[in-house]
Amino acid sequence: MHQASSGNCTCGDIRYRITGPALQVVACHCGMCRRMTGAPFSSYVVVKEAELELAAQDEALASYPVTERTTRHFCRRCGTPVFNANPHTYRGLAMVYLGTLQGHEALAPGIAIYCENKLPWLSVSESARHFDAAPKRSS
Ligand SMILES: [Zn+2]
Ligand SMILES: [Zn+2]
Repeated sequence: MHQASSGNCTCGDIRYRITGPALQVVACHCGMCRRMTGAPFSSYVVVKEAELELAAQDEALASYPVTERTTRHFCRRCGTPVFNANPHTYRGLAMVYLGTLQGHEALAPGIAIYCENKLPWLSVSESARHFDAAPKRSS
């Protein structure tokens, strides 16, 4: 990600531009991330907070203190998690959720963290049936 990238929440009330490079792409397997996202793991792009330009509709950007240190920022209207910040441990950085970024298909995680908490079936995904889209309903 060497040029400006943009992204948005599901409803589009929150849009953003990233004007600097991705410092890291992280896959996190911690239980907190699973609960926060409802997904089996979270993936996010670490960028400088100053290089994350937010353009949110009035009051669309909501925040929730997940822990004493980490704040989750999400869309009040559609619920999409957009980014996290932890100014205590990671001052000046923002963790932008990979799936909200346009062109994220080109960004693979450089590191995977909290792998000791990884769901056991994630490593056996090849054994799952794969569907190009949603499976047909049998009724
Ligand atoms: Zn939204
Ligand atoms: Zn995590």
